[in-house]
Amino acid sequence: MSTTPSTPAASAPPPLHVLVVEDHAPLREQIAALLRGAGHRVEEAADGRLALAQALAEPPDVLLLDLGLPGLSGLALCRRLREQAAQAVPVLMLTARDALPDKLEGFAAGADDYLVKPFEAAELLARVQALGRRGSSGRDYRLHVGTLAFDRRSREAWRGGQRLELPPIPLALLQALVEAWPRALTRSELIRRIWGDDPPDTDPLRTHLYQLRQQLDKPFATPMLHTVHGVGLRLQADTSPGTATP
Ligand code: CA
Repeated sequence: MSTTPSTPAASAPPPLHVLVVEDHAPLREQIAALLRGAGHRVEEAADGRLALAQALAEPPDVLLLDLGLPGLSGLALCRRLREQAAQAVPVLMLTARDALPDKLEGFAAGADDYLVKPFEAAELLARVQALGRRGSSGRDYRLHVGTLAFDRRSREAWRGGQRLELPPIPLALLQALVEAWPRALTRSELIRRIWGDDPPDTDPLRTHLYQLRQQLDKPFATPMLHTVHGVGLRLQADTSPGTATP
């Protein structure tokens, strides 16, 4: 990891409470120093079980989580946190394994974002900041856009009371769009959210957006997922989902 010294500017965003869970001491200390340097309040943990207890006792604004940990694995910690925490804790998973199955498992367990080791200091700070900002916009588990509801704890979505049956990637795309709403997300923001800097092919979103539209929009009269020309994708709130004419 390369480090660029950074000092919080006068207009810097409010500091975040970050819990860094990593058993490799040199890396953990480096990450903690970097975050402290950016003005954040940092706690450290090297053991999964202790980290879970810490996160439950005082939920951090962002949890930085290594996958391979003694005591309790990162995935198990993530799952338990989602079951037991009183509020949503944004989780940024650190992983040396950038294989897609691990990421899908991570999303299913409740990770919000990924960073593949080794990573750049600036990248880490930007992702932590983005997750913290997302969190501060509302820690409620249940988010609403029009008649669409998204439960971040159970990872379930409903439109007009009808449950959407979505595979992990379309579900993660929907969550990103719900959290960003009313803002649009660019295609590259969406791609990075799912695959980091290592997308599987040139147009990875196509089939997943198709699956999302099949569930989110096809059964209803008004589409919610809109392409904003030259910008990206955005959800538009509906007042009533209506029913599609056969
Ligand atoms: Ca480890």
